[in-house]
Amino acid sequence: MTMPQSPFAALMDITPRPPVVFADGRGSWLYDTTGKRYLDLVQGWAVTCLGHSPAPVLKALTDQAARLINCSPAFYNEPAVRLAQALTRVSGLDQVFFANSGAEANEGAIKLARRWGETHRGGAYEIITTVNGFHGRTLATMSASGKEAWKTLFEPKVPGFPKVPLGDLAAVEAAITDSTVAVMLEPIQGEAGVIPAGDAYLRGLRELTEKRGLLLILDEIQTGMGRTGTMFGFEHAGIRPDIMTLGKGIGGGVPLAALLARREVSCFQHGDQGGTFNGNALMCAVGSAVLAEIAAPGFLERVQAAGARLWAGLEALSRRHGLGGVRGQGLLLALDLGRPVGPQVVETAMAEGLLLNAPRPDTLRFMPALTITDAEIDQALAMLDAVVAKIG
Ligand code: PLP
Repeated sequence: MTMPQSPFAALMDITPRPPVVFADGRGSWLYDTTGKRYLDLVQGWAVTCLGHSPAPVLKALTDQAARLINCSPAFYNEPAVRLAQALTRVSGLDQVFFANSGAEANEGAIKLARRWGETHRGGAYEIITTVNGFHGRTLATMSASGKEAWKTLFEPKVPGFPKVPLGDLAAVEAAITDSTVAVMLEPIQGEAGVIPAGDAYLRGLRELTEKRGLLLILDEIQTGMGRTGTMFGFEHAGIRPDIMTLGKGIGGGVPLAALLARREVSCFQHGDQGGTFNGNALMCAVGSAVLAEIAAPGFLERVQAAGARLWAGLEALSRRHGLGGVRGQGLLLALDLGRPVGPQVVETAMAEGLLLNAPRPDTLRFMPALTITDAEIDQALAMLDAVVAKIG
């Protein structure tokens, strides 16, 4: 007799997943196949920035799909041109290469920096990155990441990524050699547990890289597109990077990412970079619709207000239960649980209909839809309060 196979058996088992199948999503809410609803403060890890299936994304998808989906990256298409123009306008950077995932955008940033190093710094190729930083899951971006658990994975790694502790300017200075071409980091380390680099440190890095003739690469895949209450995380520090990568929220849920650079740094030669899906009309049309929402008057102010409300609620909850406090910016926040109960909180909350994320065993990370309402924030806080009380 053969045992009936799990319906999930055909999917590679790459991560522990609860035995729930999601079928529908609307705004801040997800629904599973049994009809149970969940208040979603994960939003695909900060991906569905306007919530699930928002009207502007649906309209862009249907309008554009009816006209043109993909015509090869070796041809221009209207949505890619339009989105590139809009992104350069809001970022102050000059040129864009579209990618399909954050890791791919970062892979492109690494290649661009190496190309620039070859042309302008005698073949320098090393990129100083940060301990606990996260840049993706391709081989080069895993090598650039500073995740302790990845240190010995998939050896040999791509060489050329010396690591420094976040926040230590002297360590960066000490790590610079003739082979150094750039410094690369996240304005707020997301996967590490929402650890802000700090405005003074970012300003110091900008000064140092300028003084030493190096590039500053900011991975804004998690912090960009309004997540921290400004369009890009670097705005809080009043600096501008030479290269920036965007992903996650830029597509509002569809696979879209971008690599942006200053004109002098934008030095790819023909054949250096490409890909059959890159800059396709369908995803770029969605990107423009998402950007138009985030750039609309009052949107970022609303993100700041929602972030302040969530922060205040988490802070009060932390005090009530003797937890370790809140950190982060805008709608990228973390609650320090003070002990390694994160996975238990996530599991219990899910059973109660609240979706949370614990990037570290002692940390909850909150990345709700940028459109979350005050009532939803209050409901989530009440549910979390009950879960924390239950776990004790
Ligand atoms: N960089 C940062 C800062 C991220 O948070 C992530 C994803 O979590 C990535 C890169 C990788 O993006 P993707 O999963 O789209 O490849």
